[in-house]
Amino acid sequence: MINKSEIINKNKTLKDVSELREVLWLNPNISAYEESSKKINMDISAIDDAERRLNKFAPLIEILFPETIPSKGIIESPLKEVNKMKNTLVSFYDTEISGRLMLKMDSHLAIAGSVKARGGIYEVLKYAEYLALENNMIQETDDYSILSQQKYKDFFNQFKIQVGSTGNLGLSIGITSAALGFNVTVHMSSDAKQWKKDLLRSKGAQVVEYDSDFSKAVEEGRKLSDQDPMSYFVDDENSMNLFLGYAVAARRLKKQLDEMNIKVDEEHPMFVYLPCGVGGAPGGITYGLKSVYKDNVHCFFVEPTHAPSMLIGMATGLHNDICVQDLGIDGKTHADGLAVGRPSKLVGKMMDSMLGGIFTVEDYKLYDNMRFLHESENIDIEPSACAAFEGVIKIEVSEVGKEYIKANDLQEKMKNAVHIAWATGGSLVPEEINRGFLTTHLN
Ligand SMILES: *Cc1c(COP(=O)(O)O)cnc(C)c1O
Repeated sequence: MINKSEIINKNKTLKDVSELREVLWLNPNISAYEESSKKINMDISAIDDAERRLNKFAPLIEILFPETIPSKGIIESPLKEVNKMKNTLVSFYDTEISGRLMLKMDSHLAIAGSVKARGGIYEVLKYAEYLALENNMIQETDDYSILSQQKYKDFFNQFKIQVGSTGNLGLSIGITSAALGFNVTVHMSSDAKQWKKDLLRSKGAQVVEYDSDFSKAVEEGRKLSDQDPMSYFVDDENSMNLFLGYAVAARRLKKQLDEMNIKVDEEHPMFVYLPCGVGGAPGGITYGLKSVYKDNVHCFFVEPTHAPSMLIGMATGLHNDICVQDLGIDGKTHADGLAVGRPSKLVGKMMDSMLGGIFTVEDYKLYDNMRFLHESENIDIEPSACAAFEGVIKIEVSEVGKEYIKANDLQEKMKNAVHIAWATGGSLVPEEINRGFLTTHLN
């Protein structure tokens, strides 16, 4: 049993969180990378392995998804400096943003139009490879583009893939699985948007709808999958494969920064702000970034004030043993993909020594920032993705943000900083829905 009053009386930030106030929680357990990497019982070479696998599958991706021909089957997003957005934020919020502001546009990743293209596609490919190798359908030395042939589609068609999703993971898993030939079922929570269900069905995926939240959709999906020996369940809360697919982002980001001549080192700190739902995507990306940039990267998650699941899980140390409802929070937010009441324990534990902290943000601001980005840069991303800007706005001016900067001795270095707002989704949002978002005012 969770004792709410005990929890909120012990911790002022959690009291504010329970009262739906915006906060920045600093992670008291963060340690230097050298120590934290030892604490985390994981081999960095697993990220290299994931990257190699994605490269190996690139010729197949190029055939299955012709939109990836220009990038030769590599699914990667642009990194763009957004100076006009920076100026808009500074003047509207009367804040300071030292250094450069960049947008990492996973909103525009091919195939799934969200960060889920990283983890979801990787997990499906890895499973397909496993099945094909196990059944002597391919050899590791083969060119994997042969997997686009009909005989492989017929082979994969005997197997089923299932996933529980608020939307975007379902799109990523559903579209990829269907393209390979798998039978795929997506179990969707009540907050999943109709257009996502329609799109999935049009690609040949089955969609099962639930009246309840994400955790329930996952639970039901898992149960049905476990009953079927030919079914594989993609577990958003515990999947190492998803996590590794996300982690590959870091190596590629480094390449982009290097090509743009943007330094990240002891004198040039990097701040990364990641919208967080169950934690897999921001956690995997953080893990990858830490392995590349170590103590020179400062990673923060951002959650809606109505769904601060990772924050309460990490701050109490209870991880998936606590949910937002335990603190009297309803879990209802306009931020699709972030409406998660219970965090991933796998991710929370890994982040315990790596994550700088977690911001919470009110929903109305997501729409405001979406409009600002549209007006200043002519870039459209979905409201959830705009949560990232909350970190940008607050890190240098909030009392707690200043405390972090001081504790890390960064005051003199902020002028050299690079801030990356991780835009986690948006390009598949239908035009009329996007227009609706742009005219939504909640405050
Ligand atoms: C899924 C998602 C996230 C967060 O990813 P988690 O792995 O659930 O933490 C953030 N933004 C968007 C748009 C998403 O779809």
